[in-house]
Order: sequence, then structure tokens, then C-alpha cells
Amino acid sequence: MNPLIRVFEEKKRVKEELESILSRESISRARRDHHSWREPRPCGMTIHTGIGCSLGCVYCYVPDMGFPMKPKPYPLSPLELTYALALNPYVFPGHTLAAYGSVTEPFLKETKIRAIEYIATVYKYLKLPSQVSTKIPLTDEDALALKKAEPSLSVLVTVITLNHSHILEPNAPSPLERLESIRVLREHGLHVSLFMRPIIPGITDREAEKILAIAVENKVNGVVLGSLRVTPGILKRLSLKGYNVVEVTKRLPRKPRNNRDQVTIKSSDLKRRIEEYAVKLGVKVYPSACAANIEAHKLSCYACRLGPCGFGRPPLVKEKWIIDLIDYFNGSVNSVEVNDSTVKIKGLRLKDNKLKTILKHFTVSVLRRRLVLS
Ligand code: SF4
Ligand code: SF4
Repeated sequence: MNPLIRVFEEKKRVKEELESILSRESISRARRDHHSWREPRPCGMTIHTGIGCSLGCVYCYVPDMGFPMKPKPYPLSPLELTYALALNPYVFPGHTLAAYGSVTEPFLKETKIRAIEYIATVYKYLKLPSQVSTKIPLTDEDALALKKAEPSLSVLVTVITLNHSHILEPNAPSPLERLESIRVLREHGLHVSLFMRPIIPGITDREAEKILAIAVENKVNGVVLGSLRVTPGILKRLSLKGYNVVEVTKRLPRKPRNNRDQVTIKSSDLKRRIEEYAVKLGVKVYPSACAANIEAHKLSCYACRLGPCGFGRPPLVKEKWIIDLIDYFNGSVNSVEVNDSTVKIKGLRLKDNKLKTILKHFTVSVLRRRLVLS
């Protein structure tokens, strides 16, 4: 069978298998949940392991999104969540990158069990290459459970400051303990990156060399850098903690309009400086979180201009396979041209725009290339 069509057939199979296990109530709960229809973000499909976070990081945009400080596990059971993902038209078994922990800390005591169960169950049925980001130092026991849940899991350990963590991340465990847990995770064979996000101007860039040096001692695989995003609420909270927000406001491309409007500050100069430290220390710099995930799973990706990432050539794709796939969707094309980084389709005709969006995500997640239509 055409390997591209096989991905859709596998998706159907997993969906039917889960339907045979789940109750009618569970099926309808999963269908109503946003994991069943949301489009993946550039880092992959974000999966919520909890609602709310108690770590209270001053730079966090989660309170501005209306999430509470008191965390609780995400309400879907692991099988319901997996079913919701199997229903999602933009999620492809074995291929779509999954990112746990985007709007909460996954390993809070209230959510840790749920997070590990989610990672294990999603991997069991859908085999999504998965990544998790955390500020909680993980123990041997946690590392064992994670390795069992997803053997190639990519773990991002967040540290942005050593000296100001007690002010900027008041309820989070010490950054030194987080850095030490890199070693624990590595000893269990997990792929671990230092996550320096958000870079706080005047703080992270000044401390980066020391943080990187400790991460290297603990055998980190690489580092992912990320810019600060601000809202009026974040600026106010930073200022109340005594941080000179001019460092941030002078880097804003425009003023955020309200607390729902997150604006990313310009920080390419800071990233360059941190990259220089990393190069000096022999630490690999991943251009994005997804690049660490791709490497952890020994895959290759050419889907955006930051790449190529991972190992070797992009996945083999025959033009005929794409033509047949479009036919499978009752569509047609004039021509298809595949190269290392793009799939160019001329004269694509599909029943509706949703199929085009599915094809766009399929090209990124499965073919690991960009879709160009003309
Ligand atoms: S751990 Fe993450 S979600 Fe929780 S407060 Fe800090 S930045 Fe926000
Ligand atoms: S090429 Fe690299 S940075 Fe771009 S989507 Fe792929 S893994 Fe991510």
C-alpha cells in the first residue's frame, strides 16, 4: 500500500480500536475537547497535562490566558485524551510531534501522574515523537517511568537564571537542582536539552555561560533558546519585582494591546551572544524545540528555514504517492514536484479548504517538508 495512505488507514484503525474500549460518555467528552480539533503549533501538537500552575513565574503568560494558580490534572482520562488526538484531523500517528507542558508545569505533584500516563498512553497508541518541558527536578524513579512511557522522549529542562530565580520563579525548585536532574535523565538514556526560554535581557544573557557550563558537566545534549513574550500584565509583574522593564520595552516591535496580546521582544543579539558561549563550551544549539525532538527520535526534518534538523536526508517521498493520496481524498492535481525541502503542487483541487489544511500539516509532519501551492 502507498505509505502515505497507510498513515490515514492507521489513524482510522487506532480511532476504531479506542472506540471499542471507551464508553459513549468518554467518546463524547473527547469529541468536545479542543485536542480533537486544534491545529498543531510549529513545535508540534501541544498537549495540556493540567489546568493552572502554582510556580508563579513572573514572566509567565499563562495567568493572562485566564488559567488559575491552583493546578489540577487535565480532566480527560489518558485514553480519552488519546482518542481526542486520534480524532484530530491534523494529527498523524507515528509522525506528528507532541509537546507536553505548554500552558502548565507537567510534573507538579497534582499533575505528575496524569502527565506520565498521558505520555505513555499517547505513545502506546499513536507513537507520536514526544517532548516535555519542565522546571521540576526529576528523580531516578521519574526518569525510569518516562523512559518506559516513551523511550526516545525529548526532555527540556528550563533554566533561565541562577541568581534571580527566587524572584522571577518564586515557587519553582532551585535551578541548580534542575541542572543536576539533567544527569539523572541522561543516565537513563533520555535526550535532554537545556531550555533557556524566555531569555530575560540583562539577566539570562549575563548568566548564560555559567548555566551552560553546569549543563555540560551534567551531560546535556544541547540547548534551545527562546525569546520573551510580553503582555501588559507581564511588564507590570516584572516591574513590581524591581526589574528595569526598559530593558524589555526598548526591544518591543510594538506595544501589546491587552493581556491576550503577547508580543515577542527582539533578542537576536542576546541569542547570538549565548550561542557564542555554547559554541565555546561545545554545546549544540537547536534552532527550535522541535529540532531537539527530531534529534531525540533520530529523524530528519526540512520543514522550515531553520532546518535541516536531525539526521541525514529527508524522508523518501515519491511524487506518485502524493498524487495517489490526493486521489484518495477525491481530489486532483496538475503536477507534483518534490525536492529536499518542499512539495510543490500545481492546480490542486480538493473538496474543501479543511482538506488543504490537512495536507499542509501532513506535508510538515509526515513528509517533513513545506507545502507550496500554485
Ligand atoms: S512553570 Fe511554566 S506555566 Fe508554570 S508559572 Fe512558570 S512559566 Fe508559567
Ligand atoms: S526544520 Fe528544524 S526547526 Fe524547522 S520545523 Fe523541522 S525540526 Fe523544527
